Amino acid sequence: MNELLYPAAVVLLGYVVLGITGFGSALVIVPLLAWRWPLAEVVPLVLLLDVPASLLLEAAAASGRNDEARALLEGHYERAPSLDLLEALVALDRTSDDAQRPGRERYALHLAHEPSLVAATQWLSGERLAHENFHPAIQRALDQAAKPLMRYRCAACGFEARQHFWQCPGCQSWDSYPPRRIEEL
Ligand SMILES: [Zn+2]
Repeated sequence: MNELLYPAAVVLLGYVVLGITGFGSALVIVPLLAWRWPLAEVVPLVLLLDVPASLLLEAAAASGRNDEARALLEGHYERAPSLDLLEALVALDRTSDDAQRPGRERYALHLAHEPSLVAATQWLSGERLAHENFHPAIQRALDQAAKPLMRYRCAACGFEARQHFWQCPGCQSWDSYPPRRIEEL
């Protein structure tokens, strides 16, 4: 019971501070989580709050619990695959010395159930092709097509951005960006 009280209190505090000051809830919650981090209880709660996975990774790295974070994010990805979780998992694999981690193979695995241009382009960029001399030009064209699909979009005004914002630069709304990329909206 005590283990659940701490994350519940942190989440509540995040909402209280959000209500009073207008700060983004996750902006408040994540540093508190990094300070003391009962991951198993907190991550499901925080993901319900629509926090971008990259922010959770920062907190996990700060608390030195990368492996635990990976296991939990993988669990969430299995239940509800998203590009945001996928990008976070690939980034997490890249920081690991363990060659057993799937890394960019995750993009190819993602394609097995989602016909995603973003995932296909990301996977291809690390591939060695038979016609290698043509790869840079083709990759450039694909990257250009996929880039707008990787953005986040404000649900209130439609403003699009490469990074996730707590306050929309377009309409000043707080917490108006879902942690999903445009390709999945
Ligand atoms: Zn907006």
